[in-house]
Amino acid sequence: MERLPFQYEGPSCPADAALEIILQFDSSGTIRYGNRLARESLGYGDGLPGVSLSCLFPADLHQEGGAAPFSASQLQSMKQAMMYRKNGTCFPVHMSVYSNGQQNLLFAVNVAAQVETERKLARMKEEAEDTLKVRNEFVANVTHELRTPVNGIKGHVTSLLDAGVAKEQKRTLDIIARCCDNMSAIINNILDFSKLEAGKFTIEQKEFNVYEMVSHTVETNITAIDAKGLHIMVNMDKGIPEYLIGDELRLTQILNNLLSNAVKFTSVGYISIEVTKTLQFDDEVELFFVVSDTGIGISQEEKDKLFKSFSQVDASITRKYGGTGLGLAITKQLVELMHGNIHLDSEKGKGSSFSFSVRLHQAQGKGTEGKGHEMLEYLNRSQGLAGNGSLEEIFQFGTPENGEEIRSKMEKLILCMEVGAWDKAEAFTHNLKSLVGQGPKDMKRAAFRLEMNVRKEDLSKSMEQYNNLKSLLEGQLGIVFE
Ligand code: ADP
Repeated sequence: MERLPFQYEGPSCPADAALEIILQFDSSGTIRYGNRLARESLGYGDGLPGVSLSCLFPADLHQEGGAAPFSASQLQSMKQAMMYRKNGTCFPVHMSVYSNGQQNLLFAVNVAAQVETERKLARMKEEAEDTLKVRNEFVANVTHELRTPVNGIKGHVTSLLDAGVAKEQKRTLDIIARCCDNMSAIINNILDFSKLEAGKFTIEQKEFNVYEMVSHTVETNITAIDAKGLHIMVNMDKGIPEYLIGDELRLTQILNNLLSNAVKFTSVGYISIEVTKTLQFDDEVELFFVVSDTGIGISQEEKDKLFKSFSQVDASITRKYGGTGLGLAITKQLVELMHGNIHLDSEKGKGSSFSFSVRLHQAQGKGTEGKGHEMLEYLNRSQGLAGNGSLEEIFQFGTPENGEEIRSKMEKLILCMEVGAWDKAEAFTHNLKSLVGQGPKDMKRAAFRLEMNVRKEDLSKSMEQYNNLKSLLEGQLGIVFE
């Protein structure tokens, strides 16, 4: 008789060391050999040879009364099955069957632990979803219940103020109105955050005027900016289409969060908003916003925590400036919903620069010239800045602020050139040109040449001009580069 491949050869048989069940069976489905794991886990011990496979797979192999002859191909189609022990208990297996007509082998792995883990995971996921649902419903109800009285108080305060009250009372009512606004902002943040977490946030696609959007956001903050004696400068790339399609409300929310933080955390100096078009493909437009300030700044270790929910730099910040620490977490998620990224550059004690990109669509048949530009010019003029709000107006050439701004722009520029972000690099060379605008001729010329080469996306010439400008800045302005 021909030797079987796994014929029992005593304790040293290699199949006995296998971590899966191995069975050899004949054409009638009778087991001829089972390895150690098979003998032990099926409970037949050495009595396994001679047992029919239909006893191991009673649910899958129907051979009652010998009506249908056993076929190996029937087994081959089974990838998962319940395998029965001698005592009638069973366990799930993943199996494979090989047959060449004479030799039939079955390999099976007990997956009971894996199935149990999957079941547990599914149960945990379900429970987590239920908890999240209950929490979100709770948040939605509570915030709704809070909003109604806050709006009521604000309404009554506004009517009292409109009716005219004594000076002292007006001051108190103004404070109450401001508290109501703060409370509304916090309620809205909590509601937005829970919606974003639940994935229930949708981004609208509606036509809006991007220049008006920026102007309105600045106008909303102008009282606070003026009250602190800060300067604000808005610079928008003229190539940006005036009418875009996207979620104006949410874009305003992003910009407003960054701008109001810039105002909140700056006591002297300036705030600037720069908007550049970094990409246009057909009607898809990528805008790059930079909101910079000369405020308290953020250290490296604090930066890592910032975009996480409920994170404020430290408890003293909460006491001094208020807030929930949700603003930047929401801002980041909104930016990502608009297919963009948010980034922070900051130095403790010197200021911060938050930048983000968003993707929008250009409205059909709408150009770039219109009332929007006029609004911005008006805004910059009303802040005492020149028509188009140039950087020169804020940073007088040769002052430390001017030097610091040049250094920061040069650093961003080299980074953009290194990663091939030519559109952003061009925006920075443009700013550099303004910043050295009143400087010596050779410096102006170097900045101009740099812009030309960046525009041509010529890396080696751009690097040459960059180094040229850098050594002029080091020599003439004493700027130290890292
Ligand atoms: P909140 O909603 O409480 O304002 P944010 O998420 O907007 O919270 O900001 C979180 C923290 O990040 C602030 O408490 C502050 O410590 C820091 N931060 C944000 N923007 C600035 C900035 N422009 N300058 C300095 N610190 C900032």
